[in-house]
Amino acid sequence: MKHPYRVLLYYMYVPIEEPEKFASEHLEFCQKLGVKGRILVAAEGINGTLSGTIEQTEEYMEVMRADPRFAEMVFKVDEAEIHAFKKMHVRYREELVTLRLEDDINPLKVTGTYLEPTEFYEAMQDPQTVVIDARNDYEYELGHFRGAIKPEIRNFRELPDWIKQNRDQFEGKKILTYCTGGIRCEKFSGWLVEEGFEDVSQLHGGIVTYGKDPEVQGKLWDGQCYVFDERISVPVNQTEHVIVGKDHFTGEPCERYVNCGNPECNKKILCSPENEHKYMRGCTHECRVHPRNRYVEEHDLSDEQVKERISQLSYGEEVHS
Ligand SMILES: [Zn+2]
Repeated sequence: MKHPYRVLLYYMYVPIEEPEKFASEHLEFCQKLGVKGRILVAAEGINGTLSGTIEQTEEYMEVMRADPRFAEMVFKVDEAEIHAFKKMHVRYREELVTLRLEDDINPLKVTGTYLEPTEFYEAMQDPQTVVIDARNDYEYELGHFRGAIKPEIRNFRELPDWIKQNRDQFEGKKILTYCTGGIRCEKFSGWLVEEGFEDVSQLHGGIVTYGKDPEVQGKLWDGQCYVFDERISVPVNQTEHVIVGKDHFTGEPCERYVNCGNPECNKKILCSPENEHKYMRGCTHECRVHPRNRYVEEHDLSDEQVKERISQLSYGEEVHS
C-alpha cells in the first residue's frame, strides 16, 4: 500500500540573489501548497526539509526544478503516514550550515571528492582510512558508521578547531566524512582540503541516501539515523540492526530520545519511558529539581512529590542529608 505522505530532504549550493526576498516569497508558495517544514535560504543556496501529501510534494519538486537554479536539485524522498512537521518556516540565514569560518568555503569551488554509497562502503574498509562523523554528539550517539570517529563537539562550528587539535590522528590518512544529507560535508570536506589534508572524500547524498542504496543497503551502519523532524530517527541498515544508543541513566541499549525537562538545559538524552518517569526527565539532579521542569509541570507534581521521587533515587539520601 502506498503511504499518503512524503518527507523531502534537499539542498543546493547555488547563488541566490536577494535571498531575503526569495525566502518570503517561497514561504508564501509553501503555505499555499500546504506543505510543512523548515527551509533555510542564503545567498549561497537553499537547504530544506518538508512534508506533505504525495501530490503536494510532487508539485513542490516540479516547481523547484522548473527554476533553472534548482534544475539539478536532488530530493531525498521518504514515505510517511503523516506530516513530519507542525509548521512551515522559511528563514533567511547568512550561512546554510553554521561554521562561521574566517575564510568561508565555497563548495562549488573547493570540496572533498564525492563518493557514491558503494564507493564509500569500500573506502571505509581500507585500513588507511579514517571516517569522521561530521554531526553533533547526540546524532552520533543514536547511530553511526562502525568505527567512525566522534569529534568531541556540541556544535558543528566547533568542528574545525577540534580537527586542528587532533590533527595527528588524520595526517597522511585517507579521510572520509559523512553527515545526514550531505550538506555539512560539502563545507567541512572543503575546509579539510583547504587545511592541507590531501585525500578527503565525502559521502554523496549523506546517510539517508546510503540507507536507500539497493546495493549497500546501509551496511556497516549501526543504530538509527537522527533526523530533524518529528520522526526523530529513521532506519539505515537494512541487513542488521545493532543498537548503539545507551540509556542516559542506566547505560542499557536504548534508541528513544527525549529533551531534558529543564527548559534551560533541553539536552537530548536517550532513555526508556520507565527511566524518564523515575528521573522526572531530568538529566542531572539540578535539572530534576529545576523550578520549571516540564515533566513536573506536565504531571502536576507537588514539591512534596518531587522530594519523594528524589529520595527514591539511589543518590536521594545524600542530597537530603
Ligand atoms: Zn538537563
